[in-house]
Amino acid sequence: MRLFDTLAGELVEFVPRAEGKVSMYVCGPTVYDHPHIGHARSALTFDVVRRYLMWRGYEVTYAMNVTDIDDNIIRRAAEEGSTEPEIAQTYEAAYFEQMARLAYVVEGSGVYFDVEKYADQYGFLPHRTLEQLRESAGARVEVDEDKRSPLDFALWKAAKPGEPTWASPFGPGRPGWHIECAAMSLKLLGERFDIHGGGKDLKFPHHENERVEAEAAGHPFARYWMHNGHVVIENVKMSKSLGNFVTLQDALEEYDPRAIRMAVLQTLYRGALRRRPPGEYGDRRG
Ligand SMILES: [Zn+2]
Repeated sequence: MRLFDTLAGELVEFVPRAEGKVSMYVCGPTVYDHPHIGHARSALTFDVVRRYLMWRGYEVTYAMNVTDIDDNIIRRAAEEGSTEPEIAQTYEAAYFEQMARLAYVVEGSGVYFDVEKYADQYGFLPHRTLEQLRESAGARVEVDEDKRSPLDFALWKAAKPGEPTWASPFGPGRPGWHIECAAMSLKLLGERFDIHGGGKDLKFPHHENERVEAEAAGHPFARYWMHNGHVVIENVKMSKSLGNFVTLQDALEEYDPRAIRMAVLQTLYRGALRRRPPGEYGDRRG
């Protein structure tokens, strides 16, 4: 069996860490709003990979996180006069309820990572040097005056007044986004687990940062990386921030869940999934 491995940049033979067993980690949603078709695509893509591996006779351990504390959730709670756990629980419930209908079952300042100290090991997933990444960093990385380099990223975020906090040796705060995936995947699957999956937009900086923080701490990370393509509407990627999304709830009201599943899976998982302009199919019914 061969798969396209983002780290190698080519099709490679897939050989699991342990014979007959596959460990797999796929990044889950940040629950601050209703899931859209882009979220469904990632879930369906890796659901099919998981089912295929099981059909091939592998024992598959599949782990996925739900980000229930981050800047978006804190902002949304403030906007709605709600609390962070309420926002997260509401949209986490919506996520699992809607994914289940697609026949998907799922069993200020802080501490920063200094990329300069890991310069010769950074940029493998996006296949770019530190220099190239620094030039193109722009919108993809969080701007923060406390960082030494724009590419540095938070391992632990110190809490601003009023924000939810957890105790830590570095003071009250919360884990950086990449930390949750690195910590969960290593704890549940162990070092050198087999497959790490997620949407193409997560390749950099999220996945590259998960990879380097784990490896810099002495924990060899994922052996293969798989990324699904975007959902594209009128040549623009579907995303929450651009507001051009179709919520899964609306789609499920209009179409049979099996039809959505079929429509998503008819495109090669790595390519862009495009919505046809209205009228392209004429007015055929039935
Ligand atoms: Zn992740």
